[in-house]
Amino acid sequence: MARIPKELVDHIIQTADIVEVVGDFVQLKRKGQNLWAPCPFHNEKSPSFSVNPAKSLYKCFGCGKAGGVVQFVMDVEGTSYVEALKYLAKKYAIEIQEEEKTPQQQLEQNERDSQFIVSDFAKNHYHRLLLNSEEGMSIGYGYLKERGLNLSTIQTFELGYSLDSWDDLMKAAETAGFDKKYLEKTGLTVIRTDDQGKDTGRRYDRFRGRVMFPIHNISGRVVGFGARTLKRDDKMAKYLNSPESEIYHKSDVLYGLFQARQAIRTQEVCYLVEGYLDVLSLYQGGIKNVVASSGTSLTEGQIRLIKRYSDNVTVLYDGDAAGIKASLRGTDLLLEGGLNVRVVLFPDGDDPDSYIRKVGDQRFTEYIETKSQDFITFKTTLVAREASGDPVKKAEAIRDVLHSIAKVPDAIKRQVFLQQTSATFGIDEQVLITEYNKLVKSPSQQTKLSGQGDNRGNYGSGAGSANTGYPPSSNPRSAPATRPMSDEEEAEMLMYGGAEAAESLGNSFTSAPKKAAEEEEIPDMLQVCEREVLRLLVLYAGREIEPEMSVAGYLMGQLGEYPLQKPLYAEMWEICRQELLAGRFPDARLLAQNEREDIRQLITDLATERYEISPNWRTKEIYVFNEVDLPQLACDNAVLRLNKVHVQRELDQCLERLRHPLEDAEMFEILGDIKRLKELDNELAALLGTVVARGT
Ligand SMILES: [Zn+2]
Repeated sequence: MARIPKELVDHIIQTADIVEVVGDFVQLKRKGQNLWAPCPFHNEKSPSFSVNPAKSLYKCFGCGKAGGVVQFVMDVEGTSYVEALKYLAKKYAIEIQEEEKTPQQQLEQNERDSQFIVSDFAKNHYHRLLLNSEEGMSIGYGYLKERGLNLSTIQTFELGYSLDSWDDLMKAAETAGFDKKYLEKTGLTVIRTDDQGKDTGRRYDRFRGRVMFPIHNISGRVVGFGARTLKRDDKMAKYLNSPESEIYHKSDVLYGLFQARQAIRTQEVCYLVEGYLDVLSLYQGGIKNVVASSGTSLTEGQIRLIKRYSDNVTVLYDGDAAGIKASLRGTDLLLEGGLNVRVVLFPDGDDPDSYIRKVGDQRFTEYIETKSQDFITFKTTLVAREASGDPVKKAEAIRDVLHSIAKVPDAIKRQVFLQQTSATFGIDEQVLITEYNKLVKSPSQQTKLSGQGDNRGNYGSGAGSANTGYPPSSNPRSAPATRPMSDEEEAEMLMYGGAEAAESLGNSFTSAPKKAAEEEEIPDMLQVCEREVLRLLVLYAGREIEPEMSVAGYLMGQLGEYPLQKPLYAEMWEICRQELLAGRFPDARLLAQNEREDIRQLITDLATERYEISPNWRTKEIYVFNEVDLPQLACDNAVLRLNKVHVQRELDQCLERLRHPLEDAEMFEILGDIKRLKELDNELAALLGTVVARGT
């Protein structure tokens, strides 16, 4: 990927006005310091989406989306970081000169660009042939019309037709001045080889006499083609696709997603179908939130793509049983990806395309709404029916369903599914739970589930105690907190940390976040303390503690260059340190636009979580109230706390070592350490007491 120089990135971010940028998508109304609108990311009537112009941040209190101006463009347009920067640069007429590339990088970039350009050329060529050539009009256009597609749909999806000729595209490309090799690289031409597999030097067009379905990537560029023959020839594959190339990775593309993405977001569900024509017919019928995995079975990459736009997928299956069995596996992947999966089955012999043409848009939509079933329920019913009367098959079927349930990331839902399954199979729930626990414990399952960072815990012993009691939330970051305040007050406080807001609200603000923290597991104290110094560094870096001494300089001086252990925090610290070395103070507004998602998220979290401090520290209220006015107190407190945690950890380690058999000399050494550490601990506690006293 081409890099945009850092100075230019900063310039773009500082030029971009978040109110203007967001205003292109929603209507903002000013209330107090912030502007409000109905959220562009979820359906709602009363606005819970806010923009703070001063901090150049947005946050939705409904769905939890939050970030800076670049993040907003990424979220709303579903683009990458670099694409979002380019979008902003274009809006503000800033010319992007990308960083000097090595000749190798330049070459690769040119190669890719050339492949995009030649694909675009082919698409236009095929499209022209469909609408303007005799063969294209009679055969290609005739076919599409017969399938009920109108001109507007054909144009939206840029459908085309390839002439029944060996070299029509090659000739056209040559006339237009294209290098043959790009036709080969994109698979538009086929290299003819001899029996030994040697290149004969001869070439021919891959697509001949076919209706062409261009496949777009998420930014709308053509990366490949699907092609359907109209000849009645049994030896010929009905559908032919572009091969994988540098620009076309089948597992990372979904047919129709470019056209469907806004609708998926606003409808909050993505319909998944099998064929190109299913997508086209539904889209034309006004059901625009539809994509196809185009022949290949669903991949993780495709699931990630869907998840950028919605957490909800409804799979529209064709009616035949074999097809359904085959797709069950792909559907398990959807569950694993954390999506809420529903399923619609069409009457035997019908696919979504034929069904919508049979019954019309209105009844089709009604059908989906009334007939869609939760996937696990659907699968349970299906396999239960097949296994009825055969105990061996039944046991297999149950295990099969339990496997799917284990893939659901949400604990409450898993519980409900287990209950359902027990009812469907007529099996005691406790027996089922025992079986389920065996399954999650088995090594193969564990390796599969590890690294997903969730709590797919066992059931049966204290089930449910680990979850927060909240209803399943589609976005883990947006766990809804209890809300004693109005949205606006909460916004002021959580997002922007106005000192006045905090003061005027008195203690009420401590209750909400604290409650949530207590219900969740108690965070590791070290991480809490590391996060706190990082937060002060990021938010108050340039603030003067005393003449000639900034918060950043003070913290670095007190803690040294590499004080943090958690890798992400350590990286963030280093980024700030580099900024200081370059003579700048770290600026949260700029950092919130960092290229890396985890860094951006961290900054946004740090900037918005101001009052969520560990409940274990009595001193919390005092310094939180004063940190804006008295940054040194906040810094001292954070530094002392971090040091104290380190001391306590060292103490714990010493005590742990004492439990094991030791040589006398070693034991005395450890006892000496313990004495020293205890003194230090007391000293730190006393200092913390002083800080608190000064603060009150
Ligand atoms: Zn929202």
